[in-house]
Amino acid sequence: MSPEQQRDQLIVAYQEMADLTKLECGPVPCGQKHCCTEGYCIEAIRWARRRWDVTLERTSHPTIPLLDLETNDCTAPPHTRPICTIHTCAIASAGFKRDDPDWTQRYFELRETLENLEGTFDMLNLVDDELD
Ligand code: SF4
Ligand code: SF4
Repeated sequence: MSPEQQRDQLIVAYQEMADLTKLECGPVPCGQKHCCTEGYCIEAIRWARRRWDVTLERTSHPTIPLLDLETNDCTAPPHTRPICTIHTCAIASAGFKRDDPDWTQRYFELRETLENLEGTFDMLNLVDDELD
């Protein structure tokens, strides 16, 4: 597989993961983006620059720099914010989605794909590089 093909597959897999996890958030149980924080946005900005050579532009949101103030949606593409893309409350708390083995299976299939394509998959161990 060429680097370009690998890159394209990775972006598609992140998008599929985002589509899967986003459904878990709203409007039940708590509405989308309840758990967004400035810190996660900053990690996304760092990751986007280091991994993808992309600069994520900050929004006018007063506290969450990648959240659109009007739509309440994230402005960062899924592959530039992996920590957020893979996060759901069920996975973070129990490690699986209760009463939904099909969803859980699909989630971990995508996690494996992402890990294989990312190689080191060290997104949770980002170095503390300086932010501009
Ligand atoms: S991951 Fe959990 S806390 Fe965050 S928005 Fe979704 S349901 Fe809410
Ligand atoms: S990068 Fe996006 S999903 Fe992650 S915390 Fe910021 S606004 Fe929320």
